[in-house]
Amino acid sequence: MTGRVYKSTGSWYTVKTQLGETYECRIKGKFRIKGIKSTNPIAVGDIVDFELETDNNQVSGIIHNIHDRTNYIVRKSVNLSKQTHIISANIDLVFLMITINNPPTLTSFIDRFLVTANAYSIKTVLLFNKIDTYDEDTLNEVKYLAHVYRKIGYECIGVSAKTGKNVDKVKALMHGKVSMFSGHSGVGKSTLVNAIEPTLNIKTKEISTQHMQGQHTTTFAEMFDLSFDATIIDTPGIKGFGVVDMEKEEVGDYFPEFFALKQNCKFNNCLHIKEPKCAVKEALDNGDIEFSRYRSYLQIIEGEGEHYRTDTWEK
Ligand code: GDP
Ligand code: ZN
Repeated sequence: MTGRVYKSTGSWYTVKTQLGETYECRIKGKFRIKGIKSTNPIAVGDIVDFELETDNNQVSGIIHNIHDRTNYIVRKSVNLSKQTHIISANIDLVFLMITINNPPTLTSFIDRFLVTANAYSIKTVLLFNKIDTYDEDTLNEVKYLAHVYRKIGYECIGVSAKTGKNVDKVKALMHGKVSMFSGHSGVGKSTLVNAIEPTLNIKTKEISTQHMQGQHTTTFAEMFDLSFDATIIDTPGIKGFGVVDMEKEEVGDYFPEFFALKQNCKFNNCLHIKEPKCAVKEALDNGDIEFSRYRSYLQIIEGEGEHYRTDTWEK
């Protein structure tokens, strides 16, 4: 049998088949996945093969195979062991929720998020929320940002989780997909999810900071099927993606508008900083590349250490 992992408590996995049946499953014996070392061999979102077993009239499943993941997001523990925990796998779409104020979302945060999502191969849609509260100047700022990000290929939608404006457009994008909602605390993730599916009432609220302190990082994500052929992943306590370590030379590859020009730079290892005949700098000078995007790029590559972290965890 084949199904998708909807929930995990560590040793048990709740697996749902395409017919909608759920089974509690375990792994038997040694189970290693090539390529990634993590504290959890199987994560929420994984597609697994399993066989049923009956013990004392109790039916449960034994997982014997995992299908290749299209992507996965991880969390690295901050303690010395630096162990990797896979939060979830096979995410089709992430909605990055942005507000101009209450709370403000900075372009540096947006750009770091997009770099990380790109590095993870996760498609991102930008949702500008709380448009019901904005005055003309703030709405113009939304329009400007939407223009900047549309130009480089991102779909942008102005929404109001409160009045329901454009919530139907979000639902249409979610159809047939596994989606996730990210963004700063207070941007309206829970409100939007409740507007999408009023009966669900999931807790997208973060775990209190006190509770998180000194704890070994175990964050259990959970998937929920909605009433209109859409699935969401709830990741309690996680407002962004984990950390991606990348080389300095790689960062520009995750800025799509830089990547498109890279082959026109004189040097093929061009960092687009001080090199002569740099196509990215030329595009910046003639206004084809947005200054805020270039500034975010510099902030990322000028980060400390030899690895360039695009850490979008909420602090
Ligand atoms: P989360 O932390 O991202 O889950 O944010 P919440 O959903 O808890 O929303 C934070 C606050 O913003 C709450 O008081 C919501 O009522 C409010 N809020 C969320 N979306 C909107 C919106 O579109 N318009 C207005 N006016 N308020 C909103
Ligand atoms: Zn260059």
